Amino acid sequence: MMITGKMLIGQSAVLGDKGSLSAINPATHETLGPHFGVGGIADIEQACTMAQQACDRYRATTAEQRAQFLEAIATGILALGVTLIGRASLETGLPAARLIIERGRTVSQLRLFAQVVRDGHYLGATLDCALPTRIPARPDLRLHKIALGPVAVFGASNFPLAFSVAGGDSAAALAAGCPIVVKAHEAHLGTSELVGQVIQQAAAAHNLPEGVFSLLIGDGHPFGQSLVSHPAIKAVAFTGSRQGGLALMRTAAQRSEPIPVYAEMSCINPVFLLPHALSMRASEIGRGFVEALTMSAGQLCTNPGLVIALEGQPLTQFCNTALDALRKKAAATMLTPGIHHAYLAGIEEMGNINGVTTLGQGCSAEKPSAAQATMFVTDAATFLTTERLGDETFGPSSLIVACKNENEMLAIAEHLSGQLTATMQLDNADHSLARKLLPVLERKAGRILVNGYPNNVEVSHAMVHGGPFPASSDSRSSAVGASAIDRFLRPVCYQDLPAALMPEALQEGNPLELWRTVNGQCVLA
Ligand code: NAP
Repeated sequence: MMITGKMLIGQSAVLGDKGSLSAINPATHETLGPHFGVGGIADIEQACTMAQQACDRYRATTAEQRAQFLEAIATGILALGVTLIGRASLETGLPAARLIIERGRTVSQLRLFAQVVRDGHYLGATLDCALPTRIPARPDLRLHKIALGPVAVFGASNFPLAFSVAGGDSAAALAAGCPIVVKAHEAHLGTSELVGQVIQQAAAAHNLPEGVFSLLIGDGHPFGQSLVSHPAIKAVAFTGSRQGGLALMRTAAQRSEPIPVYAEMSCINPVFLLPHALSMRASEIGRGFVEALTMSAGQLCTNPGLVIALEGQPLTQFCNTALDALRKKAAATMLTPGIHHAYLAGIEEMGNINGVTTLGQGCSAEKPSAAQATMFVTDAATFLTTERLGDETFGPSSLIVACKNENEMLAIAEHLSGQLTATMQLDNADHSLARKLLPVLERKAGRILVNGYPNNVEVSHAMVHGGPFPASSDSRSSAVGASAIDRFLRPVCYQDLPAALMPEALQEGNPLELWRTVNGQCVLA
């Protein structure tokens, strides 16, 4: 496959004529060929209209057809081999080893959703049989979930594979039976086109309606706003900045038909070091912390940006060990010059806040867009009274809050805004404090971890990657794992529908062999 600089609209490759964009190697600031044509309103119109036209035919495909489509995309991504990994590495500055892991995760996501679709549990098939002799009589009621309709997907800069063109949002929407219109992230245009070509070919090979997938290239906010405003679009999936997510939420809410926006935005992923664990394992926890902080140059939505512990010798030991490890960490290239500038501005702002001290930094940056990891320290009173300290500085930066007592640790937990994750480093002797923290953290975060770090997000059935605002726009859903499909479904109830018209999932005799809820009981019948 070749990178052509064209958008993919249905089965066509279309060169945008509203200007051109180029990918940039963030490690050298060199421009990477080819030029990419920028699309306009007419391209959005065409992609969205085709998606709308594809909608009923695509959602009527069998589970097996959709599962095979998802599996074919996974196979196609693997078949791109070094072409994909090499291009993604050039465009993002992420090392090939990290991208190979990310590719594995992307492929696993697609395969997980193939399994979810085949299993059929996601349909939520529920039957309440008619009770004609009851007063009043109960009609025959049957519920299952159907696809919402075309979904606009905004690829994320920090996961060029796993949260981009064929990433988690796309896989979940396609699994649900929704056509997708993807806006390529400007930071990895070539990677986007390569993966887009795989989806386009898989759609053709599986004889799916043409508009099931389009990949658009736009320049500037108005393009994304127009995509979200298009009447054919019925939901939005986004990963990126809080400002971007909020802007798209406003646009979606102001449409004549408002639609849901599933935006995963910003948070600081607090890590609580409970006193006994810290006194027993300060150095080990400190070393692990620096590994987590510097992973992928800190450009992870699950980066541990806040550490909370009691002041004293164990915390000093944690800081010293962490600083030793930090000072050996090479500066790592960030995803884009823009993200790098925002990081530099962010750490400068943090360092200038009264009551905040810069504890130390990693090796100095010698290449363009390379970031020095940075640790700050403050006290609980400063944290509780300085709003900025609760906001994300995207990159390898973390703030340590030294508390005078457990009440201050609890006050900080209570003060936090919504988070994707909250972590406790604890031993058995810490259970009493953990019992007090847990109910607070449950209100604040989508995932609570013990004795680990939050960076890695397993793609599985029980995973939750979401949380109260501003971590995400809808705390009831997850952007990772099998339940991510629920975002793109809605329930429909059929009352007294004749058997001849009944959807297969709800038919007598259970032809799809689904676990269904029948008169309140979960049964395989
Ligand atoms: P971004 O600026 O939010 O952009 C993400 C996508 O949304 C892009 O396609 C962008 O396209 C579009 N977009 C942004 N603002 C928009 C608006 N007002 N209206 C319509 N579309 C909009 O994110 P980014 O480029 O990946 O990185 C910038 C900053 O986002 C980072 O410095 C970091 O702070 C944050 N970020 C956070 C995470 C996280 O996981 N927490 C991940 C990535 C980024 P256009 O720019 O072409 O409009």
